[in-house]
Formats: sequence, C-alpha cells, structure tokens
Amino acid sequence: MTAFNTLPLKPALLTSVETLGYSEMTPIQAQSLPAMLEGRDVIAQAQTGSGKTAAFGLSLLQSLGVETIRLQALVLCPTRELADQVSKAIRKLAANIPNVKLLTLCGGMPLGPQLASLTHDPHIVVGTPGRVQEHLKRGSLHGGGIKVLVLDEADRMLDMGFSEAIDDIVGRIAKHHQTLLFSATYPDEIREVSRRLQRNPVEITVEAPTDTKPAIEQQFIDVDPNRKLDALAQLLTGERGQHALVFCNMRRDVDAVAEELDRRGFSALALHGDMEQRDRDEVLVQFANRSCSVLIATDVAARGLDITALPLVISYDVAHDPDTHTHRIGRTGRAGQTGLAITLCTPREQPKAENIEQVLGRPLAWHPLKISPPRGKTLNLAPMKTLVIDAGRQDKLRPGDILGALTGDAGLKADDVGKIDVFATRAYVAITRSLANRALERLRAGKIKGRNLRVRSLH
Ligand code: AMP
Repeated sequence: MTAFNTLPLKPALLTSVETLGYSEMTPIQAQSLPAMLEGRDVIAQAQTGSGKTAAFGLSLLQSLGVETIRLQALVLCPTRELADQVSKAIRKLAANIPNVKLLTLCGGMPLGPQLASLTHDPHIVVGTPGRVQEHLKRGSLHGGGIKVLVLDEADRMLDMGFSEAIDDIVGRIAKHHQTLLFSATYPDEIREVSRRLQRNPVEITVEAPTDTKPAIEQQFIDVDPNRKLDALAQLLTGERGQHALVFCNMRRDVDAVAEELDRRGFSALALHGDMEQRDRDEVLVQFANRSCSVLIATDVAARGLDITALPLVISYDVAHDPDTHTHRIGRTGRAGQTGLAITLCTPREQPKAENIEQVLGRPLAWHPLKISPPRGKTLNLAPMKTLVIDAGRQDKLRPGDILGALTGDAGLKADDVGKIDVFATRAYVAITRSLANRALERLRAGKIKGRNLRVRSLH
C-alpha cells in the first residue's frame, strides 16, 4: 500500500509523480500524506533526503485552487538555498497543473524585483521568514487566503533566530489554516512551537532503517601546526580530492586555506557568512557542477547548504565541540555510499579530540600521514569550468536554450555540457574544462535564443 495512486491525489499530480520516476512513497510520505490530505496539522521528524519536500508539496498542490488568484500556500525555509530547492521541487510537481504561480521570496535579494513580481498574488510563496514577514507588513503580500503553512527545517529556523518572525507571520495570515511542521530534531523549542501554532497535530517519526545507515570511515591525523597545509594538500591530491568539503573553525583560515590551495593548483573556493549572496550562489553553483573540487567553509556558512553525500570531508581544525564534529562528518557517506571523514589534529587540539572520543564511546582511529616534500605546483583542477550568461528566468531563458546554443552554433557535444542552473537574471553552465574557452568564444560570436547575450567565464 505504498503506491501513490492509493492516495486521493489529482490525476495531474499522479502524472508528475510518475514522470519524476517515484514508483512508491518513501516512509515519511506514506505516513504523512494521508493525514495531510485530510487537512490535519502534521508535525514530522524528517531529514533531508527523506522525501519530505514532495510530501508537503503534493499536499499543498492538492488543495490549491488555481482559478482563485490569491496566495494559498506559504512555505517558510531557513535559507535561500533551501527555498530555491523547495521551489524547484514544487514546480516539478506542479508541471501538469496549468497556470500555477509560485514565487520565491528570500532575504539578501533586492526588494524591487520582488515587489514588481507581486503585482498579482502568486498561489504559492516559498521564502525565508524575515523577507516574507516584510512583504506581509508592507502589504505587498496578502495572507488572508492562506490555506496551508509549511515550516520546513523548523529547528534550523529557530536556531537562526526566526522564531519571532514566524509568530508575526502567523498573526498576519488567515486564522484557519493547516500547519505542516518538518524538523530534523525535536528539541523542546520545537514542541513549544507546535503547541503554539498547531491544532491536534498528527505526529510522525520515521526511523532511518539501520541497513541504510551511511558508512562513514573516520580518520584522525596527528599534524605539526606548521605542516597543516602540506598535509591538507597531500590528502586532497588525486581522485578523492575531486569533490571534498574542508571545514575551518575560523573565517580568516577559510580564506587563507582557499588561497593557498588555489596557488597550489587546486580548484578551491571559500564559503563564509561575510560573502554577498551572489558570490555565495556562484560558489555553490561551481561546487555542485564540478567546476570547483574543494570547498572550504566555516560551520555556520555550511549550515544552510544541502550538500551531502560527499566522498570526503576534512576538518582542518578539530571542531570545538562533538556536536559540530558530528554535523561535519554527516556531510559524507549519505545514501548508502561510503564516505571518508578526516580530522587534522595538532598537539594543542588533543583535548578536543578526546572530547569527541568520549562522546563517540570508542577509541579514535589515528592514522599516520607521512608528508612528502612539496613537488612544486601540480595541477589538481576540477573537470569542469563555469560560464555565466547575463540572462535568466526573467528573460524566459531555459536550460534547453543554453544547451541548444552550445550544441548547435558552438558545436559542442552534449556530453561536454554539464549542469545548467538558471536563476532569475543569470544562468550558469558547466563545460568540460578544456573546451570552456572555445565554448565561450563561440557563444559570444553566436546567439542564444536568437539574442546576443553577455557571456563570461568564472575564475
Ligand atoms: P527531500 O527529502 O525532500 O530533500 O527529497 C530527497 C530526494 O528524494 C529528492 O531528490 C526527491 O526528488 C527524491 N524523492 C522524493 N520522493 C521520492 C519517492 N517517492 N521516490 C523516489 N525519490 C523520491
């Protein structure tokens, strides 16, 4: 009884589910969808990867009346990255329902274009609490017709200090609405939010089945503080450094490590909270499309990212507390793949490592690392390079248009074109590194969708 067609879903949604290749429901979907479709409030403990987005996405699309031009569903997410992903997922599910208008409203983006796109109410808004609150306050968004409110990754929204904004939002939307709350953890604050905002909710917890628990190999390496960078470079050389995340405790080390790795011939980029949203986007796009092989981040900056299942995670410094350490290593080895988590530890950091050992409840696996003398600059470049096109969704540019221009006029093979990300006003496309310059020249000389668009290459 886990087929989607056992649910009372609109045929258009069943078609989408089929097109997406979802043959049966995930446990969280099987448990939560029947209650959600009945209109009940639901509180669900669900991790990324559980299929929670499709669960609430299907439910809110089922109750949507497209002919009514009003905001009917509001999804609040902790970060812009998550909001973008959720929007994408809902758009895919809505692909067979004509005229669904969905808008993503996040902080860190200019207000003007958002106001311009709000001249007609969208049916669905996905956004971060602060910005959504601002639009409701200004009256550029109207919450009176909201039927469904989704709080996605509620624990992270509380961690990020969005509690007041959420309460204020709830006070500004229709009194009678369904509240769906998803959270990876259930601290007391979440229970309190549920008590405040939900009516008689159905509670759902899905245990991760033990046989699909990820296999993570943890290694600890003793290093001399002066040889840390050499150790890191050595660990990243070769196959396993093709897609790795490196954590530093301090922001200034993130920049320094990224610069030094870049100097040594790696495709490495830094990510920290001080960066402009656009720069963050570009770093993430490049890491995801394999134009950057090593991402160096602070814990805070990495929080909002949906990057998991990486083959290698390295702690350049031992995390200050065992919880942070656990978060770090959880970035590797998801979904049945084995991951490697390496922690570099200087003698001064030993007490922190012992702390982790205690929480872990078993001895740490120490591995010797013989650091070979640096051999000068060796190239460890990522396989792809990113081109940026100065046009996006607002210009009705679609991935197919870009692929068409590259394989048509520019003469590339489809295999040499990687991931294509189209944002509101810009688009990014990954090209096999050795062909990137040629593709750039050809795109500049030719047209995309019949127009001459500005194209440049990143880094
Ligand atoms: P989420 O937990 O929402 O981030 O979803 C994780 C991934 O699972 C996404 O890539 C979805 O496309 C995929 N997914 C969601 N539901 C199903 C399903 N019933 N069968 C297979 N894949 C699914």
